[in-house]
Amino acid sequence: MVKSKSDVPAAIRELIDRLAEPKPMRRGSLSVRYLKCNKPGCACADDPKARHGPYTSVVRTVAGKTQSRSVPAARADLLRQHVEAGQRFRQDVEAYWQACEQWSDAELDAAEAGSETEAAKKGASKRSSRPRSSPRSKRS
Ligand SMILES: [Zn+2]
Repeated sequence: MVKSKSDVPAAIRELIDRLAEPKPMRRGSLSVRYLKCNKPGCACADDPKARHGPYTSVVRTVAGKTQSRSVPAARADLLRQHVEAGQRFRQDVEAYWQACEQWSDAELDAAEAGSETEAAKKGASKRSSRPRSSPRSKRS
């Protein structure tokens, strides 16, 4: 059954509006590294403080393989923003799932309460109220 928009809980509408907003973003984590260049005579070979960088990249494992994309220093802030946007999106997706599952719970509970009321009207419950005796409990 398709829900009319007014039936959708406000919290869910708010989340879906945020999720639907297009923006550049990516999965993976940010990596900032300082590297040795391996050129003969360069100080970076011995002195960690003389290493080159920072080199910023986003790293992600897909089907067991590491994928990465590096950016020049001037783009490091932009990449960080895109990675953070991706993290917020992931959190919003999770919050969306939770809100929809609460909505499902509410609808299932309402349906259950409705069927109980109907049964009460008919004066008979299909569910037996007698305590069930299992064969196992007789063993002692
Ligand atoms: Zn070097």
